[in-house]
Amino acid sequence: MTYAEVILPLPLYSTFTYSVPEAMEGALQRGSRVLVQFGRKKHYTGIVEHIHSNTPAGYEAKPLTALLDPEPAVRYPQLKFWHWIADYYLCSPGEVFKAAVPTGLKPESETYVALSPAFESEAGERLTERQALVVQLLSSEKRLKISEIEAKSGIRTVQAVIAPLIEKGIVGIDERLIDRYQPRTSRYVALNAEKGDEEKLHGFFALTGRSRQQEKTLIAWLDMARWMARGEEPQEVERDALLTASGVTPGVLKAMVDKGIFSIYKKTVNRFAGSGGRKETPLPTLSHTQQEALGRIVESFREHAITLLHGVTGSGKTEIYMRLMAEVIGKGSQVLYLVPEISLTTQLTDRLRAVFGDRLLVYHSKFSDNERVDIWKRLLATNEPLIVLGARSSVFLPFARLGLVVVDEEHESSYKQYDPAPRYNARDAALVLASMHGAKSLLGSATPSIETYYKALTGKYGLVTLRERYSGATLPDIEVIDMKRMRREKAVSGILSLPMRLAADETLKEGKQAIFFQNRRGYAPVVVCNECGWTPKCDNCDVSLVYHKKADLLRCHYCGHTRLLPKLCPACGQNSLGIYGYGTERIADELHEKFAGYRVSRMDLDTTRNKDAYQEIIEEFARHETDILVGTQMVTKGLDFDNVKMVGVLNADTLLNFPDFRSNERAFNMLAQVAGRAGRRDERGRVLIQTTDPDNPVLRHVREHDYDAHYRSEIADRERYAYPPFTRIINIYIKNKDTMAADRAAVRLALALRGVFAERVLGPEKPFVSRVATWYLQAIMLKVETAASMRKVKDALRAIYASVADDHDVRTSTVYYDVDPV
Ligand code: ADP
Ligand code: ZN
Ligand code: ZN
Repeated sequence: MTYAEVILPLPLYSTFTYSVPEAMEGALQRGSRVLVQFGRKKHYTGIVEHIHSNTPAGYEAKPLTALLDPEPAVRYPQLKFWHWIADYYLCSPGEVFKAAVPTGLKPESETYVALSPAFESEAGERLTERQALVVQLLSSEKRLKISEIEAKSGIRTVQAVIAPLIEKGIVGIDERLIDRYQPRTSRYVALNAEKGDEEKLHGFFALTGRSRQQEKTLIAWLDMARWMARGEEPQEVERDALLTASGVTPGVLKAMVDKGIFSIYKKTVNRFAGSGGRKETPLPTLSHTQQEALGRIVESFREHAITLLHGVTGSGKTEIYMRLMAEVIGKGSQVLYLVPEISLTTQLTDRLRAVFGDRLLVYHSKFSDNERVDIWKRLLATNEPLIVLGARSSVFLPFARLGLVVVDEEHESSYKQYDPAPRYNARDAALVLASMHGAKSLLGSATPSIETYYKALTGKYGLVTLRERYSGATLPDIEVIDMKRMRREKAVSGILSLPMRLAADETLKEGKQAIFFQNRRGYAPVVVCNECGWTPKCDNCDVSLVYHKKADLLRCHYCGHTRLLPKLCPACGQNSLGIYGYGTERIADELHEKFAGYRVSRMDLDTTRNKDAYQEIIEEFARHETDILVGTQMVTKGLDFDNVKMVGVLNADTLLNFPDFRSNERAFNMLAQVAGRAGRRDERGRVLIQTTDPDNPVLRHVREHDYDAHYRSEIADRERYAYPPFTRIINIYIKNKDTMAADRAAVRLALALRGVFAERVLGPEKPFVSRVATWYLQAIMLKVETAASMRKVKDALRAIYASVADDHDVRTSTVYYDVDPV
């Protein structure tokens, strides 16, 4: 008997054993996608992890229900990579599978069953009584869930009845898959003659009956199909292309179809299949400095698999990446080019597309699932050299042979997935993936993360530095504005201090553009009763609600819960509710008023909900159809605009006063990045930062463009307080809907952890936001020495959890781990 170990999309730590029906034996492979029954009613798509012949002890393995594709859907190195993620980030391979594979490839649980369109009940199939009952049920309904068939037929083990029906092709099982994944089809035009049949062709010309239009269409078709070319296979002719080439209306084509000259057929096309188009524009010529940096990177790769390119904003890191990528695909290997956010990719995609044509694939979560499935399939089907430009989740794609991984803006915290599991850092995972493929990795940043820079300085990574901007543009002039003083001097109106206002005035009058940054969305973050101090809180979370003016609602930024703004204070009944503070929406309103006649646009989560919104806002700004762009951190990321002279940071305090060990690092990065948007061309840009803490060292380092000083002060603190890179942190979260149970479970678990890890365990304590979406949270921090064996640490963690798992409070809580939190 043959068995398959199957990974299911569930948070369970093992694979599951199924027996392999004889009919599937030849076709089943490691990486095959299969449908299996799990529990009594549920069905899942799983991936075959491996095949063996060890009969499981103690239970009888169920048979696989169906094999879903003729070829594996996952490559073997991917499976290895999934296991690494699961081990390192303390989650199950099933959770990795769930995150890794587009939804269209993994229908789960609610599997539908339907009669195959080809099945005719009269065809004389011999069916058992129970099979006939199922077929009858299905012929009156379009499709049914397996559980519905069970209910309607009264058959308890309907699974056993359906399996042979699937095998005979009478019943199709992945109906929902078909529903979800819509392949794109194109219509093609065929000539109703064999190639070389001159006589028939003459006949067709005669049939066009002196219609110039029809004749033109026929000639265009012959040309496109290369019908007359000797010894060549005729090319397929797309209907739309034919209409364009011949310039006729669809009616003309239809008339020719009716006459029997042409026929039309449909074909599925991969949205990302190569169309033959290649390079359109040549690679940019590198400046002398860039050329030199490129040389040093290549050199560094001889000794270091991983190299950091530390280049100031606007130094042209992208151009250097492009050179390297061109070289790698020239040698026939693939490239993964990771970027932190989609807002980056629109400008970048155009730049890359121009050079690499259809060798470029773009992959991110805002794509429809269909598009993601198409990219997946394209990669699975080929070993061609391709470049994948993508966000976090593109590390999971089925690469055949990676030669290079580029991680741009490697310091970005958005590389870390916070929720749900796997809570992985795509940068670190990409480095592991690269090493599995024997590929080189290049990390790029103007403000490298402390950990990465430490590794570069201590020789673990190579380091290449670029200190000048391309074509010598100078770094912007940064002014820090003391808001306490401004208020004393009555030089503040609304959110703008006088210097900020004057700078914006001057910029706009010169016909230049300005960017304003505030890391809060909505209209006003604080609503409070001036009489009694009441503030609206979320019903589900331990946070205050933010007022959104356009929607005229109070909204929770954690769970999305909304509520109307009451007219009177619900606590004291007075008409005394006040609105305070500034979110991007209010700032946009205010700028609109203060700079009448100039066009203001806003970029934040609220204005970019759909896929194209980013692009529109960015392009409008790039074409100078808007003068002022207000936004949250989205505007800090790699955007590259010619005409931006000034950048205003409206309130740096919220960045500086964050209670965690990374707050300085985060503040420095964000401010340096947003400042980097100013004056990227000839004229020197200006950056103004409003704060009540002007002497903060982070602001001094930003003002002086002094990354090294920032690094030195930060690494000293990290060493002093035993934070990364000197230790590794694993946060352990406990959540429960019952606050007391969460507390007790956390105490219990912490006690058990102390038994093994002693003083390396901190907490438990309530996290900053201690209740989210009705769950009460507790957190325990584990700090282990960097040199400790992570394998042992993780084995210990699993064992400790197991030792308290039967405690009622622990059992009713959800416990999860966040490894290397950012
Ligand atoms: P970084 O990513 O280092 O901040 P970019 O790669 O975005 O910098 O480059 C900044 C700007 O300079 C871009 O507009 C880019 O097109 C331009 N640039 C950089 N290097 C070159 C080059 N070698 N040739 C032409 N333009 C360049
Ligand atoms: Zn009140
Ligand atoms: Zn909430």
